Amino acid sequence: MVAALACACLTAAGCAGDGGQSPAAGPGAATRTGSPSPSSPPSSTAPSAPATSPSAEPLPRGPLTGRTVVIDPGHNPGNREHTREINSQVDIGTGRKECDTTGTATDSGYAEARFTLDVSRRLRTLLEEQGAEVVLTQDGDRPFGPCVDERARIGNKERADAVVSVHADGSATGNRGFHVILPAAVDGGGADTAKIVTPSRELGVRIAGNFVRATGSAASNYIGGGTGLDTRDDLGGLNLSTVPKVFVECGNMRDPEDAALLTSAGWRQKAALGIAGGISSYLKK
Ligand SMILES: [Zn+2]
Repeated sequence: MVAALACACLTAAGCAGDGGQSPAAGPGAATRTGSPSPSSPPSSTAPSAPATSPSAEPLPRGPLTGRTVVIDPGHNPGNREHTREINSQVDIGTGRKECDTTGTATDSGYAEARFTLDVSRRLRTLLEEQGAEVVLTQDGDRPFGPCVDERARIGNKERADAVVSVHADGSATGNRGFHVILPAAVDGGGADTAKIVTPSRELGVRIAGNFVRATGSAASNYIGGGTGLDTRDDLGGLNLSTVPKVFVECGNMRDPEDAALLTSAGWRQKAALGIAGGISSYLKK
């Protein structure tokens, strides 16, 4: 989930944040396609996954050959043990916000951070099969974070053709369905989204359409007026991006019917297929 007034977050710490400089891991900690298993510590200078390193294994040639996609698994399972670090304030362009948040969970305790990582890994596999080079902002290989501003910078540094941040919401029971969050026009405070607003909307529209087809899920019945699209200016991950980027809230973890979907591996594969379909459609336009 991504904290906002509009979202019925249970606690401030339970919502996705917007954040800042992580003291523990620099941009070099991003996890690149085919990079070795991330066993090294996530300190900022870890040489295991430099952003410019070649893939360890050759990618198959496909329709996305030569394209770079950054996938941002929202939150981090370790954030709960690092509240001091993730509560540090960072600049998000339109203000200051927490570095990161713990995310939400289902009533049975399935954490949003586990969900986002699982869907992101499935998504990576699907995109790599089409030839795309894929970079994850975190791959379960660091103790917490990254902060939201660093998440944005990883996509910028990679000059990604598309960036997708994967989340699930934490709203009231009865609130159901997915929505895609698009960047608003923001200018000032170190943020300038003028160039990404239009392409990000196109990316988001294509993801929303493919998500419906792949999962059978309806667009959110509580955000976006039935369009499955929402535009926000309070997320550093979007405000600080210089490349096309959207967030996908795949469902509401606090609703029992949505939770039954989100906790299903089969459904998560469908979700990944929908997101991959939208990215692929956008990149091949
Ligand atoms: Zn989230």
